[in-house]
Amino acid sequence: MTMASNRFQSGEMVMGRWPGSSLYYEVKVLNFNSNTQLYTVIYKDGTELELKEVDIKRVSGFRQSGGRSRSRSRSPSRRRSRSRSPGRVTRRSTSRTMETRKDARKEPKVKEVQEVRLSPVEKPVENNSNNKHDKKEENDTTNRVSEKSEAESESNRIGVRYNLRPRKEEVGTKVMEPEEVEKKVAERLRERKVSVERSTELEFGGRIGAFFMIFLLPTITVILLLMCSQKDPSLMNFPPALPSLDAVWDVQVFGLVVLWFFFQALLYLLPVGKVVEGLPLRSGKRLKYRINGFYAFILTALVLGVAHYQGVDLSYIHANFLQFSVSAMILSVLLSLYLYVRSCWVPQEDLAPAGNSGNVIYDFFIGRELNPRIKSFDLKYFCELRPGLIGWVVINMSMLVAEMKIQKLDAPSPAMMLVNGFQLLYVADALWNEEAILTTIDIVHDGFGYMLAFGDLVWVPFTYSLQSFYLVNHPSALSLTWLVTIITLNLIGYFVFRKANSQKNAFRRNPADPKLSHLRTIPTATGKSLLVSGLWGFVRHPNYLGDLIMALAWSLPCGFSHILPYFYIVYFTCLLIHRDARDEKQCRRKYGSAWNEYCRQVRYRIFPGIY
Ligand code: NDP
Repeated sequence: MTMASNRFQSGEMVMGRWPGSSLYYEVKVLNFNSNTQLYTVIYKDGTELELKEVDIKRVSGFRQSGGRSRSRSRSPSRRRSRSRSPGRVTRRSTSRTMETRKDARKEPKVKEVQEVRLSPVEKPVENNSNNKHDKKEENDTTNRVSEKSEAESESNRIGVRYNLRPRKEEVGTKVMEPEEVEKKVAERLRERKVSVERSTELEFGGRIGAFFMIFLLPTITVILLLMCSQKDPSLMNFPPALPSLDAVWDVQVFGLVVLWFFFQALLYLLPVGKVVEGLPLRSGKRLKYRINGFYAFILTALVLGVAHYQGVDLSYIHANFLQFSVSAMILSVLLSLYLYVRSCWVPQEDLAPAGNSGNVIYDFFIGRELNPRIKSFDLKYFCELRPGLIGWVVINMSMLVAEMKIQKLDAPSPAMMLVNGFQLLYVADALWNEEAILTTIDIVHDGFGYMLAFGDLVWVPFTYSLQSFYLVNHPSALSLTWLVTIITLNLIGYFVFRKANSQKNAFRRNPADPKLSHLRTIPTATGKSLLVSGLWGFVRHPNYLGDLIMALAWSLPCGFSHILPYFYIVYFTCLLIHRDARDEKQCRRKYGSAWNEYCRQVRYRIFPGIY
């Protein structure tokens, strides 16, 4: 970043326009980003904001022309005391008008607009943008809420240009003293000189953790598959015998894996299905995504169906399962290397917030570039749902065919049908609701590197199919009651999972969606709100809860003879608890006191009454 070509200098006090209003507040310039052409400025309460040059004026110029500016020429009722939020610019009450009129005569005008608290309104809970209020609060808050909504929708509209970044957890509850602001500004300026937009908070155990994970993930995958291939897959038989080279590598299998990848890529390119926009990026851009995953799924099913009737034996995958997994691993490593190398040429603003630590190993693991694309082909979006997820269903089908062959059955066992049916529903649902993935952590926050490439191409298809792989050689009988119980459990999990994800996705896409008007929300300083009733008021991650209930239903058909088929639920619980912790941290940073308020109102993270 450079301050060479910009009008305002680091440390300069200027007047910055508050997004969505014509009001100016005194702010200090922190830096200028020549890529985005935005100035980062800091307010009295520690809130940082990115502004365009046209929205910044010199204090002197502002004083001269201030009398003509909209914010000054309006009645004094528009001015605020130190505890008012700029989001509430249009509130008018007679008493307030009188009070501020008096103030207006006493103090210089510029001083008034300097002392302002930016962040959340005093009563943080309100209904969503449709502005339906709790009856008891109605009289008190009607004006305030409508002002807030107005500011919020305005802020959403201009969200492309402005990036609100509260820096303090308690932003909005305390106005900083001038000396504190000076200190903070000096600190921030020092930080920026040392490192420009470097990721400093490393996850997954930092560099050492990332280094081990790179080797640990393939090792666990191979061990699980070897254990599952054993006649007696008990933990007493750990570790499994090392396989021969022939059992892990086969050129033909590798060719099939590559073919599969490119076949799915071809389907992704088909010009069918609508094109939607993702959430705004840091630069303000919105990427376009083609939604045709479900078509790809149907076409794949048709092609495989035809192949099956042409005599292609799907159980080939089962017979060469380890080789398939190793080939997929090699492909994921090659892809990750490509992703890392290309990320060295992309502009800073295209890097993932967490993927720019400067450490090669860590950045390779976590993913540097947020949305790597070859023209309009989005590699992360493609890998998230297509080759791995559809591949998982194909692997399950292969296990079903293999079970019938090996166990000499005329039809698949009920346990195998349940596992196949449940997981088919999960994948079909993900593809049917493909658009919802655009608001998930993977797409919005995480870069595309080894972690996601390995997860999408290897971990999901080869370890999530462990139950069906297990059932091929380890039959499990199910009573009718048990069968009904497991199906019910899966349906409950699915309902919670789907409803939670759909609600959040619909809300993020359109906070004023009439279908969500019954839900209460908490406004945040960023202009976005948080759902605080319905499923998102039950626990803070209802979608994780639903997913975990389903995970249990997928393992139960395998009976209780071995722990191996329960690997998925154990691993998935750890994954989602860790993911929840990561998300909490990010949300606390993003939303500050509003997030604390959400946590106060919704006490449990995933499991009601427990965690
Ligand atoms: P979420 O879809 O839950 O996204 C979390 C984000 O939602 C937060 O960062 C925040 O982002 C927003 N948010 C949080 N609380 C609220 C609220 N109260 N109101 C509105 N928005 C809120 O996380 P994931 O991407 O982890 O999960 C998506 C789905 O994928 C889940 O169902 C999960 O179970 C599943 N999953 C499955 C995996 C698998 O391997 N099978 C692996 C990982 C996930 P913001 O405010 O910025 O919009």
